[in-house]
Amino acid sequence: MVHYLIAMGGNLGASASLFQEALQKLSGPETVLRQMSQVFRTAPVGASAGEEFLNAAAIVASELSAADLLRSMQAVEDILGRQRAVRWGPRTLDLDLLLAGETVVETAELIVPHPALWYRSFVLSSAVEIAGDWQHPLLGSPLSALQDRLQESPIKISLEFCTSDLGNDHAAAVFVEDLRTKIPEIAWGGDAVEEEFARVQIFSASAEQLPYSYRIPLPRTRTIPLFVRDYADAMVQLEQLSIAIRG
Ligand code: AMP
Repeated sequence: MVHYLIAMGGNLGASASLFQEALQKLSGPETVLRQMSQVFRTAPVGASAGEEFLNAAAIVASELSAADLLRSMQAVEDILGRQRAVRWGPRTLDLDLLLAGETVVETAELIVPHPALWYRSFVLSSAVEIAGDWQHPLLGSPLSALQDRLQESPIKISLEFCTSDLGNDHAAAVFVEDLRTKIPEIAWGGDAVEEEFARVQIFSASAEQLPYSYRIPLPRTRTIPLFVRDYADAMVQLEQLSIAIRG
């Protein structure tokens, strides 16, 4: 029996009852709901994200392996997403497996702890409510401490990008200068950043080293990959990222 922490999210008409329905469908002889957080309303990230989002977290105890539980979660997403596709549009329900006790899983289908768990305040808010003392097995901190860390300002992050596809060094310098002025709450710096909060790797879409954003090189839990078309797109995505971090 493993205790799993699950994140639930949705927009476009999602509701607390949709989350309850999802948990009900997930429950069975092998999987028992232990706790559900409140439903949090969060601002959408990005201009095209639409209405506000709803987020909640739940703890389930299950005999299933993490991989099997993920498959059940995906089946529930499919059923509930499909039913509501016409009325509410796509992505009415997103289920993520955040933690599987203190187990670490890294396969092509599943990465646990969820790579974005530690830097998304809209995920941490609900997670901390019911699992604040759960330990992040890779970062060695309880979730509550990870949430506190997001409040620090400025956030220290370093930026790594490959210039080969994105342009020349001059373009890169202009880009970084732009970032400094547009996103002041992030203290930018390369190797000079001590105790960096996060490392952001920027990959041009054509580089395709990483076909899927969860597959990123170590240390993956502290690295945020961005796939961008060009510098302008990188800028937009980084701004969205800073909003996501700030919640
Ligand atoms: P998304 O639609 O953005 O939630 O991504 C779903 C994809 O992420 C699926 O293909 C999963 O196999 C993969 N994935 C990897 N790790 C996780 C995780 N911890 N929770 C949910 N999906 C995951």
